[in-house]
Amino acid sequence: MAGTRYIYDFDEASTGGRELLGGKGIGLAEMTQMGVPVPSGFTITTDACRAYMAVGKELPDGFEDQLDSHLRALEEKTGKRFGDASDPLLVSVRSGAAISMPGMMDTILNVGLNDVSVDGLAATTGNERFAYDCYRRLIEMYGETVDGVHYERFNPDDDPVDAIDGLKAVYREQTGRDFPQDPREQLRRAILAVFESWQAPRAQVYRRTYDIPDDLGTAVNVVQMVFGNKGDRSGTGVAFTRDPSTGEQGLYGEFLLDAQGEDVVAGIRTPQPLAEMEQRLPHAFEQLLETMARLERHYRDMQDVEFTIDEGELYLLQTRSAKRTAAASVKAAVDMAEEGLISREEAIARIDPAQLDQLLHPMLDPTATWEVAAKGLNASPGAASGKVVLDADTAEQRGKAGEAVLLVRWETTPDDIHGLIQARGVLTAHGGMTSHAAVVARGMGKPCVAGCESLSIDMDARTMTVGGQTLSEGDVLTIDGGTGAVIVGEVPLVPPRVNDDLETILAWGDEHRRLKVRANADTPEDAAKAREFGAQGIGLCRTEHMFMAQDRLPVVQQMIMAEDERGRRAALDKLLPFQQGDFEGIFEAMAGLPVTIRLLDPPLHEFLPDEEHAADERMRRRIRSLREANPMLGTRGCRLGLQYPEIYEMQVRAIVRAAKAVEERTGDAPLVEIMHPLVAFEEELRRLRELTVAVAEEEDAGEYLCGTMIELPRACVRADEIAGQADFFSFGTNDLTQTALGFSRDDAEGKFLTHYLEDGVLERNPFETLDQSGVGDLMRIAVERGRSTKPDLKLGICGEHGGEPKSVVFCHELGLDYVSCSPYRVPLARLAAAQAALAGEGVAEYVTAGG
Ligand code: ADP
Ligand code: MG
Ligand code: MG
Repeated sequence: MAGTRYIYDFDEASTGGRELLGGKGIGLAEMTQMGVPVPSGFTITTDACRAYMAVGKELPDGFEDQLDSHLRALEEKTGKRFGDASDPLLVSVRSGAAISMPGMMDTILNVGLNDVSVDGLAATTGNERFAYDCYRRLIEMYGETVDGVHYERFNPDDDPVDAIDGLKAVYREQTGRDFPQDPREQLRRAILAVFESWQAPRAQVYRRTYDIPDDLGTAVNVVQMVFGNKGDRSGTGVAFTRDPSTGEQGLYGEFLLDAQGEDVVAGIRTPQPLAEMEQRLPHAFEQLLETMARLERHYRDMQDVEFTIDEGELYLLQTRSAKRTAAASVKAAVDMAEEGLISREEAIARIDPAQLDQLLHPMLDPTATWEVAAKGLNASPGAASGKVVLDADTAEQRGKAGEAVLLVRWETTPDDIHGLIQARGVLTAHGGMTSHAAVVARGMGKPCVAGCESLSIDMDARTMTVGGQTLSEGDVLTIDGGTGAVIVGEVPLVPPRVNDDLETILAWGDEHRRLKVRANADTPEDAAKAREFGAQGIGLCRTEHMFMAQDRLPVVQQMIMAEDERGRRAALDKLLPFQQGDFEGIFEAMAGLPVTIRLLDPPLHEFLPDEEHAADERMRRRIRSLREANPMLGTRGCRLGLQYPEIYEMQVRAIVRAAKAVEERTGDAPLVEIMHPLVAFEEELRRLRELTVAVAEEEDAGEYLCGTMIELPRACVRADEIAGQADFFSFGTNDLTQTALGFSRDDAEGKFLTHYLEDGVLERNPFETLDQSGVGDLMRIAVERGRSTKPDLKLGICGEHGGEPKSVVFCHELGLDYVSCSPYRVPLARLAAAQAALAGEGVAEYVTAGG
């Protein structure tokens, strides 16, 4: 207990690292110890903050003594005394948590000034305006941060000497006290205020958003002041070692002459580019260049620094790993590897796969300006501008007529699919990250902002209102699905950057990757896109979308309405050439690669209209008899194939014929994999395999595989038996999650599951990130038992999890052969799979850049 150390000078070693000293503190200590010019100072540890919060907001025993002795040491080092009337030591009191929370917490500059020493400072420096500028900043920052006083914004043209009396009067009026004249009191209360700012509501909200634990606490840095506001040989600025939006090499940043602290970011005066600094303060600029190069070499990563020039002398006040766009992150990683600063393996490990999503879609032009009217969930990345349309039919009409439209709905359902296809993007008022709109948009690679609560739609007036602005159908709106922003009017877009740098890094990764990456694709266009992104085949081709197409649906309905097998076969004969044509297109796009085709899966009522739109009484009866309250667990999957074998027969025939036709035409045989969905029992698959083999023989098929989706818990535990009938397993983790957890997805998201996530019953949405300990364990059992029967059983995953980085890593560890995901996620899955392999080789996993 006794002897806990709460304070470290910047030049003292500590073993606590970032957790103990905070990001700012550890940076200041490391820079000091490297010999980079940093003002002297000390760091009060996060331990002290935690102790303060734990014991009912009291400073821990021994703290005050430690503060005294470190203050004395600082006085000795600087040759100035705290509270001195003629040449006072002034300090800043700065927050700094272990994980950076930009702008969330507080800092107070010029602590130590009072009515007497301000005149001393004026006399010593011969600069009254400067001394009073420091004092008015102290009164403002201290008042706001420590006592919650509100001041009018200071006009930089006003005389600071005149301003002081007014500011002190406002302070007195709002606190009932005089502005404190005792520097020790100022310091003590400033430190407590920084501790308190950890608990401020905005900081709490930020932590919840970014998954930062509430009990870390903040460190406090007490730093000798250096002054950028002493005239035109002084200034302050921020700089990056590379451009944070493009990653281009070369110093990038902004500065202001005769300014202090946050003036650069506060937007009171317009800062100048660093090139200007080279003109005005060439010596300091030279020194800044050298120092930043050193820092980048030391940290082996792109840095972002704050600096001040005090009468020509350069001081660094902060350094951290720079936050950067996805494009910059890729370019900087490739460049740093080529410069020899880091290894290729580290370059791969440095990139957050989730961030790659940003790169593969159009973005808002970063040089344009816009105002965000409202925010929803960033459900599918990319930006889109278009005319508002409020229903799917209108979207389809106007889209087909060549107009750029955005579909705006309360929420979408499978009935809206034709409108979604034609829209540039989709905005919904209701629903989460895995709502219909979100899932479909991600699959199509279209931007989506979902669950925008401030959006309301008036279908009678055909208007929508967002952020207080009402738009009629046809007015232009812009959404950014990467950030969730909704913007009224048009914003220019820039095309996705699938550039050489990304290619380079993915190619480096491919050398390490063991897991193959395939795509889920239902059309030749999607297949081609997937191949362009490096897909090594198709892991899931769904056939129901082909049944839904406008020209097929009537024939499908005819098949469903048929009285008997003969009637069904007649309709299926008409469908066969359509199916064959679909498959041919996909096989050509994937020539030489495996293509897994799933036979019909959904319950048949999905192909019939709503009861009120039925053509006649007979159809109404049929709809009623087919309707399933819970469409997940009824007559679907292989159960359909067993009840109506003629449907699967037709599909197998179409697949085999398409494969042969493509081989004849191009000489390249696709590797066909026929997949039976929703198998629970060996006997189901045995019969369907028999059916598959019989048709294939009739058609004189070439080589093909026959396998099953594993999407039911029973299939996992009886995988040894099922493997006897299967050449491959593909984990359908969407349904496996539903059936293993007993969660009906449609009844979970936006309902109890949202509640679970908010209340912390569950940490993550199991439909987004695989439930590794539950569903993952079932998969592990299936892999072990399946391979015990058939050691060369091919294993893959085709649920949405196949494109989620954490789940990809899990699939690697499980020893699957491939993951399959939407075409746009293929690069991301390639990278995640490479990182998983590298983690196995001992190269550190990706860590979020912070500080
Ligand atoms: P934030 O985390 O909001 O950036 P900082 O603690 O870094 O807060 O400080 C705010 C501003 O004040 C920064 O521009 C910083 O460079 C400047 N600053 C902080 N301490 C000093 C100091 N001792 N001398 C001069 N400027 C300082
Ligand atoms: Mg700042
Ligand atoms: Mg800062």
